[in-house]
Amino acid sequence: MRNVKRLSPFFIILVLLISGAKPPTEKPEPKEVELRGNIVCLAEEMHTHYNVELFKTHPHLYGVKTEAGKYYTLLRTSLAEALFVDERLHEKDLIINGRIFPNTQLLEVIRFASIKDGVVHALYYYCDTCYIRAVAPGNCDCCQAPVVLIEKSLNVDSTIPSP
Ligand SMILES: [Zn+2]
Ligand SMILES: [Zn+2]
Repeated sequence: MRNVKRLSPFFIILVLLISGAKPPTEKPEPKEVELRGNIVCLAEEMHTHYNVELFKTHPHLYGVKTEAGKYYTLLRTSLAEALFVDERLHEKDLIINGRIFPNTQLLEVIRFASIKDGVVHALYYYCDTCYIRAVAPGNCDCCQAPVVLIEKSLNVDSTIPSP
């Protein structure tokens, strides 16, 4: 048994050489991206542009439409949950950081912010009783009161006291 084990790497290389097979190629990596655009229902967009059949009541298929007009499908993860359930975010111009997976247009959201009057704003949910931040709407983990949406300017210039 021991002999077989020791020989096996040689055996594999031998087989590869004989068969002319290349060693397995590396798995393609997801691509990190920063997208600017809006949340849209992809089904409705395809209906508008390409007459895809659409039921009046349908589960929305949410995705991002970038400024350049490219579409990405949103994966429903906890960090993206707010983009699915809070329609107020559908009205905003967003900057979304995330990952696109090889051979797909699937987007995993890592973080997002809004652009308002040309200024980047942090978007998050907040309980001002417990001072707890949340990534999606719902009830505060601590006091169970509903958290509120905060859109806060990241332009810190205005908050720095002048010397
Ligand atoms: Zn829809
Ligand atoms: Zn609370």
